[in-house]
Amino acid sequence: MSMKLEHIGVAVASIERHLKVWRDIFGFVVGKMTEVAGQKVKVVMLDVGGVHVELIEPLSQDSTIQKFIEKRGEGLHHLSFEVDDLHKMIEELKKRGVRMIDDVPRIGAHGSVIAFVHPSSTGGVLIELSQEGVVEQEV
Ligand code: ZN
Repeated sequence: MSMKLEHIGVAVASIERHLKVWRDIFGFVVGKMTEVAGQKVKVVMLDVGGVHVELIEPLSQDSTIQKFIEKRGEGLHHLSFEVDDLHKMIEELKKRGVRMIDDVPRIGAHGSVIAFVHPSSTGGVLIELSQEGVVEQEV
């Protein structure tokens, strides 16, 4: 089983506002802003040195990120691990008794497919598993 930390997701009410610290003061390089329609969010990746920080802003009141911010405030939301074969990984984890939020991969940002592991299996940390380059990228 091979998993590599790819990014740390941070839920924010406004990406623009927080770029003033992450980009302008910390000096991290910002990637392209993308909308993930399925999750009603927009995201931006910052290269923080081998791994990324993903700022996630809700686009709708019924986005799970909006609900997260209302309940717990802005802050750390998930860790994202890159895997080689997401289908196989989900089957393997389930076989070993790990509770999944997603039994079936869904479309993530930047042409990836993702699946979330339930925090009850991981010490309260929401974990996103991601396989890159699966979905045709929109240009
Ligand atoms: Zn993420």
